[in-house]
Order: sequence, then structure tokens, then C-alpha cells
Amino acid sequence: MTKHVDIIIIGSGAGGATIAYKLADSGKKILILERGDYIPIEKENWDSEEVFVKNRYTTKEKWLDKNDKEFGPGQHYNVGGNTKLYGAALFRMRESDFNEVKHYGGISPKWPISYTDLKPYYLEAEKLYNVHGERGIDPTDPNDENPYPLPPLPHEPRIQEVVDDLKTFGLHPFPLPIGVNPDIDKKASGPFVLDRFDGFPDPTEHKADAQTNSLRLALKHDNVTLWTNAQVNKLLTNSSGTEISAVDVNYQNENIIINADIVILSAGAINSAALLLKSANDKHPNGLGNASDVVGRHYMFHNNSAMIALSTEPNHTKFGKTFGINDYYHRSEDFEFPLGHIQMLGKSDKIQISGDSPIPAPGFTFDIMAKHAVDFWLTSEDLPDPNNRIMLKDEKIKVIYNKNNWLPHEKLTEKLKYALSHSGKFSHFFPKHIYFSKNMDIAAVAHQNGTVRFGNDSKTSALDIFCQSHDVKNLFVVDGSFFVSSSAVNPALTIIAMALRVGDYIKKDIL
Ligand SMILES: Cc1cc2nc3c(=O)[nH]c(=O)nc-3n(C[C@H](O)[C@H](O)[C@H](O)COP(=O)(O)OP(=O)(O)OC[C@H]3O[C@@H](n4cnc5c(N)ncnc54)[C@H](O)[C@@H]3O)c2cc1C
Repeated sequence: MTKHVDIIIIGSGAGGATIAYKLADSGKKILILERGDYIPIEKENWDSEEVFVKNRYTTKEKWLDKNDKEFGPGQHYNVGGNTKLYGAALFRMRESDFNEVKHYGGISPKWPISYTDLKPYYLEAEKLYNVHGERGIDPTDPNDENPYPLPPLPHEPRIQEVVDDLKTFGLHPFPLPIGVNPDIDKKASGPFVLDRFDGFPDPTEHKADAQTNSLRLALKHDNVTLWTNAQVNKLLTNSSGTEISAVDVNYQNENIIINADIVILSAGAINSAALLLKSANDKHPNGLGNASDVVGRHYMFHNNSAMIALSTEPNHTKFGKTFGINDYYHRSEDFEFPLGHIQMLGKSDKIQISGDSPIPAPGFTFDIMAKHAVDFWLTSEDLPDPNNRIMLKDEKIKVIYNKNNWLPHEKLTEKLKYALSHSGKFSHFFPKHIYFSKNMDIAAVAHQNGTVRFGNDSKTSALDIFCQSHDVKNLFVVDGSFFVSSSAVNPALTIIAMALRVGDYIKKDIL
């Protein structure tokens, strides 16, 4: 079967759903191809055992590490992509992140656009995803004369105490910018529950994700269609290789060829690179749109860790994800390089804690540990290394990654422990492994980015500054892959803002 549409969007996550929303009112015939299905609304959505221990919503696909050893990635193939499971901490990159920054481990390169280019789209993205926050308290806040669309979420009492202790210590905790849909169902009675928010799908749809806040709006337009269980196998070009002529998709177990004038690839940084490599042909022997040889390279996913701090005070918090700390983002008093960013994680429970720690802390049971735990997420920048890359081996995705710039992350962890210990209430600190996957290293692909970088020079980038391929005229790549550096804040808002910018460009200059 062959079919024709105006625009194909591959993937319905942060990039794909948002650009679908932006292009929907163009009246063009848009087909979104999503390899996964809707996550069912079921009681397991909020079951820690199912979500974190049995990995119910994670792909069963196996990838290879640099030694060809198989691992199960913390990757989600479903409508809404990884945002269905995300924590909705929606940060703008800092203004300095768009410039060259000297790090302990090397240089974080300059982006081909500035903060000012993305600023109006960041605001549009914050409105679309109902971001709550307050500007000007975070010492690294990028400038904007407009407030956040919604006020910050209040701290629960125990979290307020931690904030106060950290302020006394001399830090500047700030309200975490977070996407929460207010009053989505005016008929709903009783308080909605946000305690199962971070890492869980949200059956109440209070989490602002790509499905609820973009895709659903796009699908209100008759010209936009979504195919689920539609996995794209290959992008086919015309005989001269200048344009994509068709997309080869397996839709509900049938192979279909679809022609389109424009193809927007939004399969996520790892899968987009893999699909381009897989689509090599005689005009593109190195992979589609890969004359520069950057496709798959410069893979980044942040130096991340999760930490549980145990204090003598019980923590009855339901939703703890209400503050962040950026005092060490650029440097510290005793280290001249950037250390990174700290934010709260969703409150852990007994199951998550017992999965992390083989034995309870001295004097605690797992249950008591969970009742006293305060959970943190620490992110430092990893640097783009051309040898950290996505490849294909025997049709499987292979991820080659060697850690870099790790020392600042260790220093950041020590800074947090020191600041918390200062209050006299925290006595034990544990790494929390179970959050994104059992192995926080190679399998923790949540923040994947950088594999199809954008730039002005077609020798060193695959995409131009509107994420259009330098080599293949009608191809755009709109997801985490265009990043030139990873910064130390969560990536989704930057992906969403860029999708809005590219959508604007396509409407004004291409259609
Ligand atoms: C547990 C968790 C917590 C997170 N917390 C945060 C957070 O608090 N803040 C933040 O900013 N970020 C967070 N992230 C990261 C965030 O979710 C991602 O940065 C974001 O979703 C990436 O958007 P994307 O468009 O690049 O890819 P995705 O959202 O992953 O979307 C890609 C889509 O493409 C589909 N696809 C892939 N291959 C194909 C194919 N061949 N054919 C058809 N469809 C295909 C996939 O099924 C998927 O739906 C978190 C991620 C996880 C997993």
C-alpha cells in the first residue's frame, strides 16, 4: 500500500507532539507515526513494584554497550514518548549555556543560536506546558520580563524546613519550575495526588506531558492523524539523494510506504540517529544526511545521580519536587569550574528504597528509612565527545560511552551532603539507583541528546539552525538530538521550545 500526506512526523514525544501542535493549524495533511501505543490507564500506573522493579512501561528491547554486552535501556516507546514518565521539571538552559564554557574536563562548545533566539519560544513552551515557578530567586535564572504562567507550587512542611535549613547555611533554594495542569477536570472532587508523579505515568493527567499538552490539541484538527504501533524502518530518498521520497513503516504488522513533502524525525536522540544510520543508501553511504559524519556522535546523557538523605525528622511529604539549588551551577568558592544543578525528586517509598539498598541503614528498617528519606537529583554537564556515539550492530542499537567531566559531579554531591549535614538533622546518604533503571550508567538514557547536532557549518553539523538537514532538503530533526552541549538542567523544555521555533519556521518559510 502507498499513501501520500504533506507532512510526516516520526515520534510523538516532546519534540514530535509539540511540533505537531504548532503545525496543526496550517491545514496541511499531517501524519504522526508512533511506534508505541497509549499507556493504559490502570492501577499499575502508580505501583512502584510494577514501574521501577518490573519495568512495566520500559521497552523490552536490548541494546549493546561498547563491549557488545546487552543491556535493557530505560527507554519508553509509547504515545507521548519519555514525557509520559518524566518529572516535568521544565527548565530553560542558562544564558551562559549557549556560549562556550570552560569545564574541568574540557570545553562545552558554543551553540549556533543564542538564548535571545529561543527566549520567546521558551515562554510559549512554559505556557503550553503550564509551568509553575517564580523568576529571579534562582541566582542563575535567565532573564525574562514575563513571569511564569503559574505561581510556584507550595512546599509541604518538611520540605519547607529543608529549604529553611539550606537558606540558613547560605544557599538560595528556588521554586522548581514544573509542568502541572491546573483544574484539568473541574468535575473531579477531592485533592489530586502528585506523590506518584516523577517516573510514573499519571492517570489523572495533572502532569503536563507531550500527549496531554500538545498531541491532544493537535489531534483536534481534522488534518492531523496519529498512527500508533507504527514503527518507521527506513527513510527512502529520490534517486539523486537530495530529498526523502518515502517513509517505510511497519503499521500494525503491515509494511507500508508513505510519501510526504516534509519529514520531521522526532524519535528521540538515540533512535533518530539510529534511523538515519539505518537509512544509508548509495547517495548517503555513511547514513542519511550524514556527509558531516556527526550523526550518532557526541552522544550525551548528563552526569546524573539520585541521592536519598536520611534525617532524624520524619518526612510525611506527598509531593516533594518543589525546589532546586543552582548555587554551584557556575562554580563554587573552592572550585573554578561548573559543578552542576540539584533538584528534588519524587518521594521514594519502601519498595524503591529496598531495591536500592541491600541492607537497611543502621538503626532503621526499610519502612522507617522511607518515612525519613528526602530525595535529591543531581545533574552535571557531560561534554560532547565524538567517540561517544550511537552505532548499529546486527540491526541492534549500540551505545559507546566513556564518562567525562565526572569530578565536578562528585564535588557537587559532597557540597550537598555538607550543606545538609550542617543542619545537624541528616546522618546517612545513599545513592538511589532504581529511579531511571537498575543501572544508572549506560542504561539511564532519560536525558539523551546531542547525536544529530545543529550548526552553521555543514562540515561539523548535520542540521542547520532550524534543525533542517544540510544534505536532505525536506528532512528536519526535532528532538533531543540537535543539542551541541548538554548544559546541567533537564532537557525537555529546550526540546519543546525548539520544536515551536522550527514549527514557526516551517509555517512561515517552507509551506
Ligand atoms: C523517568 C524520566 C524522568 C524524566 N524527567 C525529566 C524532567 O523532569 N525534566 C525534563 O526536562 N526531562 C525529563 N526527562 C527527559 C525527557 O522526558 C526527554 O528529554 C524528552 O522526552 C525527550 O524528547 P524527545 O522528543 O527527544 O524524545 P521522546 O520524548 O522519547 O519521544 C520519542 C518518540 O519517538 C518514538 N519512536 C522512536 N523510534 C521510532 C520509530 N522508529 N518509529 C516511530 N516512532 C518512534 C518513541 O516511541 C517516542 O514516543 C525524563 C525522562 C525519564 C525517562
